[in-house]
Amino acid sequence: MSAGLPFFRYHPDPLASGSIRAATETCACCERSRGWIYTASFYTAQDGTGRFCPWCIADGRAAERFAGEFTDSYGLDGVSEDVLREVTCRTPGFHAWQDPHWLVHCQDAAAFVGEVGHTELAAHPEALDQLRTDMRLDGWHDEDRLEHFLASLGEGATAMLFRCTVCGAHLAYADAS
Ligand SMILES: [Zn+2]
Ligand SMILES: [Zn+2]
Repeated sequence: MSAGLPFFRYHPDPLASGSIRAATETCACCERSRGWIYTASFYTAQDGTGRFCPWCIADGRAAERFAGEFTDSYGLDGVSEDVLREVTCRTPGFHAWQDPHWLVHCQDAAAFVGEVGHTELAAHPEALDQLRTDMRLDGWHDEDRLEHFLASLGEGATAMLFRCTVCGAHLAYADAS
C-alpha cells in the first residue's frame, strides 16, 4: 500500500490492480492534481471522464456529484444497503472485459484482490473449487472442457480474485472477452 492513499475496505490495493495509477492528471471532481488518478469503470448518464482522485472516490463526492457508480450492483445480494452503497459509490472499480461485479461471502461484500491466471488461482484451492462449482451450475457439463478452461486461465480468459472480508476465504469468477 502506498503513500497516504485512502483505505478501501473492498479494494485494498487499487495500485496493484491497476485501477489507480500515479499521474499528474487533474481530478474531474475536485479539479486538483493529487498525484493519483482512477482509470477503471464509472457509470453515469452525465458527461464526465470518470478520472477521479482516490479521495473523491473514498468520500463519495465523485459518485454524488456525477450521479454515477463505479460498479454495477449485480451480484451484491444479501448485503446491507450501507455495504451496497460503499461498493458501488465509494470503492474503485476494476478493469475487466465484462462489466465488473463484486462477489459476496459471509453476507458481506468480498475485497477485490486482482485479475489472475490459473497459477495464482491454484494457490487458493478453495477459490478454484468454488469457481469450478459455479461454472458447472452455469452449464459447463463437459468436465474435460471445464478443466481445460480452468487450466488455461490467464490466456484470454482470466479470473477475478476476491477475498472474504469476514472469514478470509478466497473466491473468484471467470472473465472473458
Ligand atoms: Zn478529487
Ligand atoms: Zn467468508
